[in-house]
Amino acid sequence: MLSFDVVIIGAGAAGLMAAIEAGKRKRSVLLLDHAKAAGEKIRISGGGRCNFTNLHTAPANFLSQNPRFCVSALKRYTQRDFIALIEAHGIAYHEKTLGQLFCDGSSKQIISLLLQECRKAGVVLWTGAKVGKVQKHNGGFSVAIERDGERDKATCGSLVVATGGPSIPKMGATGFGYDLARAFDLIVVPPLPALVPLTFDEATLAKLKHLAGVSLNAVVTCGKTRFAEALLFTHRGLSGPVILQISSYWREGEEIGVNLLPDDDVFALLKQARSARPRQELKSILSELLPRRLALHIVEDLSASSNLGALGRIADLSDKKLRRIAAAINDWRILPKGTEGFRTAEVTLGGVDTDELSSKTFEAKKVPGLYFIGEVVDVTGHLGGYNFQWAWASGYAAGQYV
Ligand SMILES: Cc1cc2nc3c(=O)[nH]c(=O)nc-3n(C[C@H](O)[C@H](O)[C@H](O)COP(=O)(O)OP(=O)(O)OC[C@H]3O[C@@H](n4cnc5c(N)ncnc54)[C@H](O)[C@@H]3O)c2cc1C
Repeated sequence: MLSFDVVIIGAGAAGLMAAIEAGKRKRSVLLLDHAKAAGEKIRISGGGRCNFTNLHTAPANFLSQNPRFCVSALKRYTQRDFIALIEAHGIAYHEKTLGQLFCDGSSKQIISLLLQECRKAGVVLWTGAKVGKVQKHNGGFSVAIERDGERDKATCGSLVVATGGPSIPKMGATGFGYDLARAFDLIVVPPLPALVPLTFDEATLAKLKHLAGVSLNAVVTCGKTRFAEALLFTHRGLSGPVILQISSYWREGEEIGVNLLPDDDVFALLKQARSARPRQELKSILSELLPRRLALHIVEDLSASSNLGALGRIADLSDKKLRRIAAAINDWRILPKGTEGFRTAEVTLGGVDTDELSSKTFEAKKVPGLYFIGEVVDVTGHLGGYNFQWAWASGYAAGQYV
């Protein structure tokens, strides 16, 4: 039987940060992960370059049943604090777009920074450690652990759950944190895949799958929410940053609106073209505005599936027809069938209900000594480095109190 002040389950972004902070306070810390290595999601993140934070991080970039819950932690450990840590370790980085900061080199640099800081802070890290039964008793917890075929038990005063969400199970993601929360009678907001591609039904797919690989900048809306970024047609439906962003807001049965030419009033452009070059074919005009494959598809689909008839020379097209064509581009309405699910989702919506936790310490109100941090909590960031900033900030906050 081993005894620590703090046991942290999950050596991802949040768990590593909490371990460093608790270790700096001279708390003895055991950090456990069932994966072979710490920080596996950091390693694969941002296409291998880790979009580690966002210059514009603010509470508005997070979804939660309680949108105010994230405010305190984000204020106490900001994007500037993490940037200072990166700079202190001499890691070169750049802003890619929209405030998103990436390593110039590799995401492995972030993992080695965190592991170095863990070593400095005296953290004991066990990877390949299977966590078994967790029990509460007077003054703390005991955690059963199996490692290298040997069974052990660790006791602690503070137990931190940093096991993330169930997205990408093949990376070691589990619903362990939710099960543990429920075992202690804490409410869990039902988890849903987020930042995930959307799929089409078979009939729509049959019409659109030949567009797979086409990408363009678009504005996508769902209810009152709107994002402007790149959109990508896939073999299953739609993806690209703008779709991943909207997927966090989309619910089954809802329609989304896509503006395929957000900087242009297509009706006005078509009218202008009709006066300036009446003999030109509609498909050639649209091919100047949109990727050619998409332009041809729109013309063929409108002629075949609406009552617009043949759409040839622009001179032959009435205002009414031009309006219908423009609407198909400036306001394409589509009803996705679903999402690609946890298999490809970058994050999970929902998680441990924030009402159950202190926003200052992340301790469960009903269970003194039990903490939940990172993605396992019902706080989910937009795409663009916000989810890591949440992991760093919540890990930092809990690290001050465990
Ligand atoms: C492909 C991909 C790319 C991403 N890119 C970015 C990006 O560039 N920027 C960004 O901000 N966010 C990105 N994200 C999201 C980001 O990775 C997560 O939000 C973040 O890792 C959450 O940190 P966490 O510490 O809460 O959980 P995780 O990083 O998921 O860590 C949880 C840890 O707990 C361990 N664990 C789980 N269950 C158990 C168990 N039963 N016993 C022991 N250990 C367990 C896991 O092995 C894991 O190491 C990406 C996600 C994916 C999937």
